[in-house]
Amino acid sequence: MAVLKIEGLDKRYHEADKYAVKDISFSVQEGEILALVGESGSGKTTLLRLIAGLEHPDAGYIELSGDKIVEGHYSLRPNKRKIGLVFQDYALFPHLNILDNVKFGISGPKAERIQKAKEAIALVGLNESDQKYPHQLSGGQQQRVALARAIAPNPKILLMDEPFSNLDAMLKDQVREEIRQIIKKSGVTAIFVTHDTRDALSTADRIAILHRGYLQQIDHPRSLYDTPINPYVANFFGKVNEILAEPVEDGFFTTFGLIKDTRATEFTGKVRIIFRPENADVCPNPQQKLIGNLLKVAYFGDHQMVKIADGKGQFINIKTNNKRLFNGSEYLCFSVDQYEIHPI
Ligand code: ADP
Ligand code: MG
Repeated sequence: MAVLKIEGLDKRYHEADKYAVKDISFSVQEGEILALVGESGSGKTTLLRLIAGLEHPDAGYIELSGDKIVEGHYSLRPNKRKIGLVFQDYALFPHLNILDNVKFGISGPKAERIQKAKEAIALVGLNESDQKYPHQLSGGQQQRVALARAIAPNPKILLMDEPFSNLDAMLKDQVREEIRQIIKKSGVTAIFVTHDTRDALSTADRIAILHRGYLQQIDHPRSLYDTPINPYVANFFGKVNEILAEPVEDGFFTTFGLIKDTRATEFTGKVRIIFRPENADVCPNPQQKLIGNLLKVAYFGDHQMVKIADGKGQFINIKTNNKRLFNGSEYLCFSVDQYEIHPI
């Protein structure tokens, strides 16, 4: 069942000549974790604010658990929406201990509020620390408190804006996994915003990618990475290679040689062959002998990137193992194992 349904959402801030978000439609299923990704200014925060009720759209509607919460001039008040929010800076109350911080948003009789708060604190694994104050906790722990506070009132959906951006790289890998497990254990449906593709790929069930206010693609991490709908999406998850090719009888003819492919007959005009650096290799499969001139080798410890030119102005990058030694300038054979074909 869809917990959140968004249809045709437009938002333009006063006097802005461009839409911050335009014609956005998608649904989020119960228990799903959706990552919202895009460059700075692509409309991620605006979309969260529209869902939370902190902004009102110019067009479109929003449904939460089957109820319209936004349509036309109607807007359900933010505090009535039953949405949990986690902000980038956690926004904990510094003068309240952890228990009181988490208790804050829960309504009902006092004993029940304490009970619910304690359950949420246990869920994030901070039972021992419930009398401590925010400044006595690490960044990762503060974030778990913010999460406990947002989950405790049992929201219909949890919205998190850049929840990992204040954590350093080492901590981030660990916290990301913890947060995912906590969210899954609680069963809450969640949307989190990030500009880091690694956060999205490793933590989300599905990813929605925004570009200049438009939704480009929404799909499972693997599908988005392997079958991006357009070059923008492809490059967003790491720079891809693009080579121009001409379909001929037994494949695609490129300036590096022939990529054998029976699908070539389905194309009439020129195409772009798009592939990721890891989907090609310099240890060629004998079926396919592409050839180019080695321009550069960059060593990264666990892998190497080689840059290969066709001598006519096109070049590609190939990710290869860390063992092979290259001797400066040489001609290299390579093969491309997995690629997308885009007509021009
Ligand atoms: P993101 O979170 O992806 O960085 P935002 O939703 O914050 O993007 O911004 C989307 C666009 O809307 C940007 O062009 C931004 O400059 C503009 N914008 C955001 N907030 C406001 C505001 N309060 N007033 C005017 N323009 C805004
Ligand atoms: Mg933002």
